[in-house]
Amino acid sequence: MYSAFLIKYAEIAIKGKNRYLFEDALVSNINYQLKTVDGDFHVRKENGRIYVEMQGDYDYDETVTALKRVFGIVGICPVVLTEDEGFDKLVEDVIAHIEETYENKNFTFKVNSRRARKNYPMTSMELNAALGEKILDRYPETKVDVHNPQVMINVEIRPKINIYSVEIPGPGGMPLGTAGKAMLLLSGGIDSPVAGYMISKRGVTLEATYFHAPPYTSERAKQKVVDLAKKVACYSGPIRLNIVNFTDIQLYIYEKCPHDQLTIIMRRYMMKIAEHFAKETKCLGLITGESIGQVASQTMQSLAATNEVCTMPVYRPLIALDKQDIVEISEKIDTYETSILPFEDCCTIFVAKHPVTKPNVEYIKKSEEKLAEKIDELMATAIDTVETIMVEAE
Ligand code: ATP
Ligand code: MG
Repeated sequence: MYSAFLIKYAEIAIKGKNRYLFEDALVSNINYQLKTVDGDFHVRKENGRIYVEMQGDYDYDETVTALKRVFGIVGICPVVLTEDEGFDKLVEDVIAHIEETYENKNFTFKVNSRRARKNYPMTSMELNAALGEKILDRYPETKVDVHNPQVMINVEIRPKINIYSVEIPGPGGMPLGTAGKAMLLLSGGIDSPVAGYMISKRGVTLEATYFHAPPYTSERAKQKVVDLAKKVACYSGPIRLNIVNFTDIQLYIYEKCPHDQLTIIMRRYMMKIAEHFAKETKCLGLITGESIGQVASQTMQSLAATNEVCTMPVYRPLIALDKQDIVEISEKIDTYETSILPFEDCCTIFVAKHPVTKPNVEYIKKSEEKLAEKIDELMATAIDTVETIMVEAE
């Protein structure tokens, strides 16, 4: 029934001369998301507004779902766009909009008129009053409430007249492609897909690295990570995923180092290798799903020890979130069900019963000296034998 959507985006963040870059990225990302939706869509910019217009039939729910995945959008408003053909025609269009949108008219409302075109023959106040009266006449069961209306009927006099009263929340954030690239350390858990989503939401393009340990970890565990990347890619766009064989490095650490330090030392080598790939493809930082105190390897001391090997910024968007908050986001972005599938992770296999919770970096470095003989060669092999795939949204 609607032939257009009005797209609202946060304007405060984008004032100034870079605004068009932001808007162009948003238009291109909307087009990208709509590519797979049935319908003939035309996305256009007009005076600080973005409209999505449809020719003929289209799937409303699929279209809204697609738009809800476009970072930068704060509101999606199904809108009636009409030519200015006088007040009586405007009344007709407003009534038609209410008729089609609300089955039950038992609501309080307010008309909110705005004129971007000041030569319109009525002022906003006059329009509010006159339209309000017509609505009350037509639907006596409605009531006006100017302070806290259940339905806000927006009427904007622009080149065309815009009538809308429904605003579906978008994801917010910044459009993809406006912030650079970062390397996500993606495991099969609940946290790292959420971390990737959150950083991507700020406009950052993602790459990812996953460490597996065949035959200790299975093909299914690897497929689970690919599936998670597909879910994140629904929002972030295609993700280049590096799959690194970590087995020999893990076995070597296991052989040479104190077992209570295994997790920290492994994590340090993961960071180093991920950073290698990150530099190769001009990423500006690493992303992990760590959160203070969640497990032994995420105490402040452990985080400091892990961080110590990195030369790039490490972005940890979950750092202050509770597990429950993270779970809620994973449910919202539909990664939760995949994350909880019970496949072994490379870190859990070699994990110590009593890992250190307050590692001292100097002791860790001392332990790592025992790896001097072969570690460089093992790292080089892990890097050389990487399997890299492009993961697209599913
Ligand atoms: P997640 O739910 O993301 O697996 P977690 O709570 O299991 O997190 P850890 O296993 O301690 O936490 O991992 C901390 C972070 O280290 C992860 O969020 C992820 O960014 C990275 N990481 C852990 N294991 C791997 C792996 N096998 N491959 C790539 N990154 C990993
Ligand atoms: Mg994990």
